[in-house]
Amino acid sequence: MGQKDFFDEGDLVAVLTTQPLDRLLDYRAPEGGCHLGAFVEVPLGPRKVPGVVWAEGRGDFDLSRIRSVIRVLDVAPMREEMQQFLERAAAYTLTPMPAMLRLATRAPGLGDPPSMRKVYRPGDTTPERMTDARRRVLEALDEYGGLSFTLKELSDAAGVTPSVVKGLVKIGAVREEDTPRDMPFPMLDEGYARKALTEDQAAAAEKLRAGVQSGGYGTTLLRGVTGSGKTEVYLEAVAECLALRRQALVLLPEIALSAEFIARVEERFGAKPVEWHSGVTMTERRRAWKMVGQGGAQLVVGARSALFLPFLDLGLIVVDEEHDTSYKQEDGVLYNARDMAVLRASICGAQVVLASATPSLESWTNAEAGKYEKLELTSRFGESVLPDMRALDMRGVDLPSNRWISPRLKTAVEIRIQQGEQALLFLNRRGYAPVTICRACGHQIGCDHCDARMVEHRFLKRLVCHQCGETKPMPETCPSCEAEDRLAAVGPGVERLSEEAAELFPEARIATLSSDLFGSARALKARITEIAEGGADIIIGTQLVAKGHNFPLLTLVGVIDADLGLQGSDLRAAERTFQLMRQVSGRAGRADKPGEALLQTYQPEHPVIRAILAGDEQAFWRAEAEERRHAGVPPFGRMAGIILSSTDMQEAFDAGGFLAREDAPLRQIGAQVFGPAPAPVARIRGRHRVRLLVKAPKGVALQQAVAKWVAQVKGSTNLRLTVDIDPQSFY
Ligand code: ADP
Ligand code: ZN
Repeated sequence: MGQKDFFDEGDLVAVLTTQPLDRLLDYRAPEGGCHLGAFVEVPLGPRKVPGVVWAEGRGDFDLSRIRSVIRVLDVAPMREEMQQFLERAAAYTLTPMPAMLRLATRAPGLGDPPSMRKVYRPGDTTPERMTDARRRVLEALDEYGGLSFTLKELSDAAGVTPSVVKGLVKIGAVREEDTPRDMPFPMLDEGYARKALTEDQAAAAEKLRAGVQSGGYGTTLLRGVTGSGKTEVYLEAVAECLALRRQALVLLPEIALSAEFIARVEERFGAKPVEWHSGVTMTERRRAWKMVGQGGAQLVVGARSALFLPFLDLGLIVVDEEHDTSYKQEDGVLYNARDMAVLRASICGAQVVLASATPSLESWTNAEAGKYEKLELTSRFGESVLPDMRALDMRGVDLPSNRWISPRLKTAVEIRIQQGEQALLFLNRRGYAPVTICRACGHQIGCDHCDARMVEHRFLKRLVCHQCGETKPMPETCPSCEAEDRLAAVGPGVERLSEEAAELFPEARIATLSSDLFGSARALKARITEIAEGGADIIIGTQLVAKGHNFPLLTLVGVIDADLGLQGSDLRAAERTFQLMRQVSGRAGRADKPGEALLQTYQPEHPVIRAILAGDEQAFWRAEAEERRHAGVPPFGRMAGIILSSTDMQEAFDAGGFLAREDAPLRQIGAQVFGPAPAPVARIRGRHRVRLLVKAPKGVALQQAVAKWVAQVKGSTNLRLTVDIDPQSFY
């Protein structure tokens, strides 16, 4: 770009800060100068704020008033490709740059001097009184030469208590030193424990290796049923990447997944990868962020935000379970990590592997069109086969009220338990009951801030709004008519299903897995491991269990309500249901025991249910693609969602009406606007929400047009406008 990459003291530099300003700010480079991309602290009004030296200063500001950068932080400067990535991601998602920079600096205390910890090395004196324990400590220090130990490492290596080491420190035979905690991570060994691959695994691995060796960009869709060895195969691509001394990133949809995954990586490469997700401590987060930037971290396993880490030389990104909806961030910066992975890789010359048993229609279409390479693993590893899937037609079943487990499902569960196997009852609804109704007046208890019904969580003994998180105690009288003892739970959630299961199977050990039942991700992980090892007979769970956990003893999956996802107006409803049902069913029979999946449904003829049962994925995708092509919706057209919200309903509607009329920028690209309409959830946290939907042909400059279009809105500060490019959900 012909851009200067070092600035001498006093030179003008343009700094991007994390403050919500719509432009770069000019400063003077500090004493000692600074690099392009340097992380700095700058004065802004009375405050000091963090920022990045983004470009040469433009000097379009009163030069006498320009202040100096306060200091350059002790971290590697942001690389130019990272700047490019953030700029292009911002342009794609119509996100202001300061918000992008916040995403890219999500580690605390980057500017702090590294925190210290004590390490131990050989000292200069020999103890007068030499005990056996003392000798072992000195030998351990000696044996490992210059390596320094932490107290625990040293006492463990010597087989002594820490007090022995401390005693040696006192007499100077061992030296205690402070060193920075941000140490490089242990090295992974790509050849540590290779597995013998099956023929088609080996062929797929070879293709992925070749991609990594090319050193350039490419995306591959790796498709294969659960258990076919996709993980095994992409770990070979990781191995190749490590051998080339480039860094690799594996994205996983749910942090609960990583316990099992981390152990697998360690088995394969002899050391743990770097973890990046909300369960990681702040100190480790900072260490990870810094080491990724300095090359002291080779493989990162993380949640979607790991994509914004400052990799030194990223050669491979794996997006596991690429269809998973949690890759789309629905708060703050609205981005889809799968798409951003492809963008980042195309900028830095990396390979992307999208792995899934049930790819998204977007990826399937890209692969069919030849934009992505396609690899398939057809058979499951070892003896196991896909479970036998059957519908349980609920139309003729006479269930007592407040019962959801049909007699046939009950019998099937009993058989499994008798054989010492596990059964999963799947219901994608958190809480006890989705609706609480007053039997006297018919009032349904809703959230005070949202247009949503409150969900009873008996475990928490409260009503919870799943939109805004508001909770209140379960009232004793109806809030509307004040009748006593007439409030009734309607419909099942997992907690209520557990109650039913406890009555039906009094002898069984029942485990309920729902994200809200666990205080922390760690607690959840621990529980999952325990269950996988046989700590329960019946697992009751929400979609949390559909995501790749390996339960080797699980042989029966009962889907309580297979029709649940088919309701609603979401254009991806069919796709989601198909994927979810396939994934859940895929939990059964992974080891050497054949599995069975039973789907309770009131619409056994529904095309989606039939496609699930037939296991005919290609037919499902083709039919679904045809419908979407016909409707001109993604991936055959583009969409953008606009949400206008305000505490004043009229203001939100007025702004929506204004946008609908002033649609010239959209018409120029042949796009149409629908709405304004109240959003499906018309009020969240007391803010009224109005939605518009833009539909555009594929291949037009949608973002520019939308940016121009929404810039026309001039509302009060109370009015908020959010643009969601490629919306995934329509609430
Ligand atoms: P997927 O990612 O497609 O669900 P995995 O890679 O997790 O499949 O494989 C499923 C199970 O089979 C795992 O326990 C894995 O260790 C095992 N497995 C798969 N391929 C092999 C192989 N070639 N050698 C040994 N074990 C394998
Ligand atoms: Zn609410």
